[in-house]
Amino acid sequence: MNSNRKLPVLALIVPCYNEEEMLGIAIKKLVDFLADYVSRGLIAQKSFVLFIDDGSNDATWSILESANQECLKAIKLSHNVGSQHALIAGLTWVVNRVDCCISLDADLQDDISVMEQMIADYKVGSQIVYGVRGSRDTDQAMKKGSARLFYKIMKKMGVDLVYDHADFRLLSNKVLLELQKYKEVNLFLRGLFPLMGFKSSLVYYDRQERMAGETKYPLNKMLQLATNGITSFSNFPLKLITYAGFGIFVVTFVISLWVLFEKFFGYTVPGWASITLPIYFLGGIQLLALGIIGEYLGKIYLETKNRPRFHIEEEVDFEKMR
Ligand code: UDP
Ligand code: MG
Repeated sequence: MNSNRKLPVLALIVPCYNEEEMLGIAIKKLVDFLADYVSRGLIAQKSFVLFIDDGSNDATWSILESANQECLKAIKLSHNVGSQHALIAGLTWVVNRVDCCISLDADLQDDISVMEQMIADYKVGSQIVYGVRGSRDTDQAMKKGSARLFYKIMKKMGVDLVYDHADFRLLSNKVLLELQKYKEVNLFLRGLFPLMGFKSSLVYYDRQERMAGETKYPLNKMLQLATNGITSFSNFPLKLITYAGFGIFVVTFVISLWVLFEKFFGYTVPGWASITLPIYFLGGIQLLALGIIGEYLGKIYLETKNRPRFHIEEEVDFEKMR
């Protein structure tokens, strides 16, 4: 366990995609926070902020390159890989260079003042500290509603998630090392950490308004992330097909008995509804089932290729430049 005697080296890990409007504020705030923590003897002098430019096509990289702050490091990915892979790039880069790290979004929607509590929890033995959104008043009703539904579905499917926790968390170097063993391409980080089972704690905060720029997670990207979360951690949708199939089988069996009864003992008229309805219904169910199976098959296909999850094109380390 970590003791108070040695100050921990901390890295703040910030993925950025087209964040030119936000970066100036983010750099200043995070550098100030770090300097404050260092001066108050909470963390080691060698602590740093690591920005990951996730293939932005605006001025993000040039702002980072010219930031010229000693405690700032930046890596530029060769193309946009999405925040989960950008985060993994950062988490991989800091392995064995730090004692712990905190990942957070560039828009500072996650209240950075609670980082102090995270560090305090780490010092008394937490290997993972989850930042949990106590209130989400600043989120749009649609985002709040869809998030709530998502957590409910995940829970029903038996996936252990920390409710209302996104990617604002502290990880110890031990966890970072273990994370390297997870090679999956279909990444859903917030589902992985509870699975790892290390000693953890929660820190609550109120989610703030995005200070500048706009969300990089429109509805389609959010749906993609949610689908990935479900299909990467649960095969419940596949089971659902079996259950639905069984249910339909029972219903059609009963209908068949009725049809036979009518044929031999009743009066039958060729019916349009009884022919067309099953065609539509079964056709729909079959397509849905095929779609779900295809979703998993696609995942297996991507995983078997075992391709790298990101490529680092450039690095900037202002400490080394001095
Ligand atoms: N982000 C990224 N790559 C992407 C999309 C987003 O690195 O392809 C970063 C983005 O710059 C931000 C974080 O991921 O730092 C979260 O994105 P955002 O704040 O736009 O999402 P929201 O809070 O609206 O869900
Ligand atoms: Mg945000």
